[in-house]
Amino acid sequence: MTDCIFCRIVDGDLPSRTVYEDDSILAFLDANPLAPGHTLVVPKAHHERLDDLPGDLAADLFAVLYDLVSAVEDAVDADATTVGFNDGAAAGQEVPHVHGHVVPRFEGDGGGPIHAVAGSSPDLSDGELDDIAAAIGERA
Ligand code: AMP
Ligand code: ZN
Repeated sequence: MTDCIFCRIVDGDLPSRTVYEDDSILAFLDANPLAPGHTLVVPKAHHERLDDLPGDLAADLFAVLYDLVSAVEDAVDADATTVGFNDGAAAGQEVPHVHGHVVPRFEGDGGGPIHAVAGSSPDLSDGELDDIAAAIGERA
């Protein structure tokens, strides 16, 4: 897709600081890093949401994420890593091409845990929790 920023990076039409590349996956530094070493991992093929990825491509993407966590931590001497996907506009996805964020974390960096990303926590009854677990289980 020529109007997709990440497709343009994959195609070499926009520059990036590439840190990893294979046949199906590209990883490069985020242009507006939340921390030194903040890296994005994308499938080369254009897919908007995680749910749009074929299973083998999702597996490739996760395998590269797995390798990059320790590579990035080592490279910037980070203490920890937050890995996340903004999967859909309501979750804050701005670039509609699947990408995982690898964000190095440092003791005392002032950031929060992933629990901080959602809004106020719902107060769910046992019955509601049972129904939700069953509904997810039917679809998984
Ligand atoms: P998201 O909100 O999950 O869609 O995040 C999109 C990310 O892409 C942001 O962290 C941006 O800083 C990053 N970004 C946007 N354009 C570029 C670019 N040309 N090169 C590298 N990162 C980019
Ligand atoms: Zn794209």
